[in-house]
Amino acid sequence: MNPLISRNIHVPRVCEKCGAEAPEYKGVGEYKCTECGFVMYDDFGIVRNYLEEHRGATQSDVSRATGVSMETIRQFLREERLEVAAGSGVMLSCEICRAPIRSGRYCEECAKKVAMKEAAAKAAEHKSSVSGFGLGKAGESGARRFRR
Ligand SMILES: [Zn+2]
Ligand SMILES: [Zn+2]
Repeated sequence: MNPLISRNIHVPRVCEKCGAEAPEYKGVGEYKCTECGFVMYDDFGIVRNYLEEHRGATQSDVSRATGVSMETIRQFLREERLEVAAGSGVMLSCEICRAPIRSGRYCEECAKKVAMKEAAAKAAEHKSSVSGFGLGKAGESGARRFRR
């Protein structure tokens, strides 16, 4: 079923034309009324349609035109449900260096750095847990640092 329903995102629950309940989910944010056949979209479908027609649109253009919040749009991008079309306006930037990216949270370079930092933090945690025992451990954690 549609994963958006459990979250705080606009999803059509009744037909906007005839009021019949439970439009049928057709996929990629599209719904069809089982009574009159009227087609509706949830926030994801609305944003996706807009981006298809306006490939150069920026995040704020999309938000203004569709009424879908920047937060929701960003969420779709972060989850990689949407990908910014090549050559389009920059919709996302790396959370660290602000380089333009097409989906996710970090550029490739920063994603690598983040992964390394996380590994280093884990190693440091390990080091502090053994440092209480003092002598002879520094060499060991040094060696561990190089093993990666
Ligand atoms: Zn209907
Ligand atoms: Zn970056």
